Amino acid sequence: MRERSRDLFERSLALIPGGVNSPVRAFASVGGTPVFFREGRGARLTDVDGHEYIDYVGSWGPLILGHAHPEVVAAVTAAAQKGLSFGAPTELELEMAELLTRALPSLEQVRLVSSGTEAVMSALRLARGFTGRSLLVKFEGCYHGHSDFLLVKAGSGALTFGHPTSAGVPPELAAQTLVLPYNDPAAVVEVFARHPDQIAGIVLEPIAGNMNFVRPSMEFLRTLREQCTKHGALLVFDEVMTGFRVGAGSAQGLFGITPDLTTLGKVIGGGMPVGAFGGRRDVMAKLAPLGPVYQAGTLSGNPVAVSAGLATLKRVLEPGFFDKLGRATKSLVEGLVREAKAAGIPFSGDSEGAMFGLFFRASPPASFAEVMQSDREAFNRFFHAMLDRGVYLAPSAYEAGFVSSAHGPADFEATFAAARQAFAAPRS
Ligand code: PLP
Repeated sequence: MRERSRDLFERSLALIPGGVNSPVRAFASVGGTPVFFREGRGARLTDVDGHEYIDYVGSWGPLILGHAHPEVVAAVTAAAQKGLSFGAPTELELEMAELLTRALPSLEQVRLVSSGTEAVMSALRLARGFTGRSLLVKFEGCYHGHSDFLLVKAGSGALTFGHPTSAGVPPELAAQTLVLPYNDPAAVVEVFARHPDQIAGIVLEPIAGNMNFVRPSMEFLRTLREQCTKHGALLVFDEVMTGFRVGAGSAQGLFGITPDLTTLGKVIGGGMPVGAFGGRRDVMAKLAPLGPVYQAGTLSGNPVAVSAGLATLKRVLEPGFFDKLGRATKSLVEGLVREAKAAGIPFSGDSEGAMFGLFFRASPPASFAEVMQSDREAFNRFFHAMLDRGVYLAPSAYEAGFVSSAHGPADFEATFAAARQAFAAPRS
């Protein structure tokens, strides 16, 4: 049915490792071959065979206004006509810094980079440089990009030193990253007791979106803030996914917790490569050229990319944007839960702003362990049944989903109709 996609994938396999330029695109988790797209407009994607899909991936989060939003395309076109890159400061970067620091009061200063990976890698180097300490703490199931010291998952015990998830990460480096269970305040207190004056910072996704969708408890967040302050470690909110996706004030605004540093990406580039990290002025003052922590980028603050981000953020920060989009996203999740219930399938869902999670288990998970208890085979069947009915979900049971302002009631009704059939489809 998707012959041209299959043919292109076969040819790609010969020249590109795994046929893809980022592993999650390969459908390894759900099976089958990836869909090659030729066009996106609003909430819809068209593949190279001419099939149309309602898109709930949004390029993994950036496209909160939908595909090819006219204002974003116009901003990019106008910027490109004036020059693609200068490697020198531009007014657009200042405009972006003004906008980000206004929207997120915890950002006293901000620096632009070109990806989420770069943003988190740089923020944590800064945390180490500022504190003069080496150890970092992350949480099981949270993804922070592919820099060496963050590609570490939990060992068997909650407080054991990490084992590298990826080959090529030296064990000595991985040992500098401690991995704790998400939503476990006692583990946070304990890690500081075990490693007094050694922890440079704690990084987390303030709503976890890389193990499907897991909300933090307020007790967990408050404990993190208190413990970091008490022990002189920096609290780093990785808002690459949640930034301007779960609300105008991002997750930190939603929960009323002030991190020391924040990392951003995805929505702030509107589909172009932009990342950012920022926070306390005294911490940011340690960055080169002011201080001893080095960080740089040939294309950092690229004018074409920043133009796409600015055009996107201007819309996203309009009053009422998230009220409407949050309601729409909630109605999508409720509709899918309703369809599953009617079919007698254990299923639940959750959302915040324009980010959502669907779970093949009776209630939303609160930890990585609970995420792992959901029925992955059932998701994989659902994924393919939806794909064949023109609904494109993230090709993994462990990814969050995204709604854009271009999605409307007709898209949701079509999604519910597809789900009705998908839930009723016999297991084969
Ligand atoms: N941090 C979080 C929370 C992410 O979700 C991602 C990517 O999905 C990253 C960091 C890495 O961002 P990028 O893929 O732009 O390097």
